[in-house]
Amino acid sequence: MDNSKPTLALVAHDNKKAEMVAWAMKHKEELSHYFLCGTGHTAKMVQDATGLQVKQYLSGPLGGDLEIGSEIANKRIQKIVFFWDPLQAQPHDPDVKALMRIVAVYNIPFATNEATADCLLR
Ligand code: PGA
Repeated sequence: MDNSKPTLALVAHDNKKAEMVAWAMKHKEELSHYFLCGTGHTAKMVQDATGLQVKQYLSGPLGGDLEIGSEIANKRIQKIVFFWDPLQAQPHDPDVKALMRIVAVYNIPFATNEATADCLLR
């Protein structure tokens, strides 16, 4: 990974992907100051919409949340925006919980909605 910029991870559950893409478009300039990465589909959608390079991990349900958790534990991710869906159960909920736990262990800024994500970029 590029050490000249902090790394920001992006994750959005399916019902939150449109919101993530709109948020990324709105903040394209600020996001260009980060090395970006994300779970598979989220990363691809943000990259296609913004033209910014976004490293793709596995899709969330196939282990992408755990990969991002591993990168956090190894101090390779400094911030995360995770638009999780509070209205629909996810089959990979244990992985999401594991990621949230490791984020707390390593004191990583973690935004779960647009209002907080805006603050995280400041
Ligand atoms: P996705 O994964 O970006 O590959 O859809 C997100 C998730 O559901 O955790």
